[in-house]
Amino acid sequence: MTGADTPPADSGFVAPQACDTMHHMSSPSDVSLSAPAARPRLVAFDLDGTLAPSKSPMPERMAAALRALLDVVPVCVISGGQIGQFREQVLARLGATPSELGRLHLMPTCGTRYYTHNPDDGDWTLVYANDLTPTQVEQACTVVEAEARRLGLWEEHTWGPALEDRGSQITFSALGQEAPLEAKQAWDPTGEKKARLRDAVAALLPDLEVRSGGSTSVDITRKGIDKAYGMRKLAEVTSIPLEQMLFVGDRLDPQGNDYPVKAMGVACQAVDTWEDTAAFVAELAARLAMGDQN
Ligand SMILES: [Mg+2]
Repeated sequence: MTGADTPPADSGFVAPQACDTMHHMSSPSDVSLSAPAARPRLVAFDLDGTLAPSKSPMPERMAAALRALLDVVPVCVISGGQIGQFREQVLARLGATPSELGRLHLMPTCGTRYYTHNPDDGDWTLVYANDLTPTQVEQACTVVEAEARRLGLWEEHTWGPALEDRGSQITFSALGQEAPLEAKQAWDPTGEKKARLRDAVAALLPDLEVRSGGSTSVDITRKGIDKAYGMRKLAEVTSIPLEQMLFVGDRLDPQGNDYPVKAMGVACQAVDTWEDTAAFVAELAARLAMGDQN
């Protein structure tokens, strides 16, 4: 333990509320918001569906809101995607200054990897990685392919490889990583195929975590690694208690990949689209900036 879970005695910090007591988008400045939601010391975001449309670049309105937020509070992005996706979707569009980037924390692959900005070379430094062992990688790839074939879910026509070794995560994408959004959405509209594959693979890999990822994907990581794990690591490395963080995500429902963060009791803001997020973040940044002047 790091002691990071204990708020400083002088912070005037109020006991946190569970996420399900939080208010939704409609009233982001509501005075009854709990302390971490009203004045978070760090704001963490999901990527796909929250900061940007799925697998698409972050729009400028979102980028502008995020820059304003980075001016007043540290920000983290946690996603199942790998660092390349962060670069393409977020960093290439962010247009942030070096000091803003210095307050940005990146946690790809559900926080199994953690990057911070290096002001000297302008690049991103890998601080830690919880990679799978070579045996686990081999096992995971073999089992997921065999089960996909057995269930008739192994597609011969794909856009890029169906299996991807992301170091700390194996990702199976039924139609390949580069498949167009429409094809992905049409493949498994109810999520039934993905759930069947997940269950079959999970039964054969009891020592690994097997989880539904994006619209056509199943992710395999070390056990116990999800966005809640990433948030705990974030509390360790920043020394900011979880109780003083706010998480923003589009899948906080019990089936969603953001749910573990909500379940651990971190204050959460649910959004449906990046437009929701942009409006919320602009308001939050303005409110925090006002507070700084007082
Ligand atoms: Mg999402």
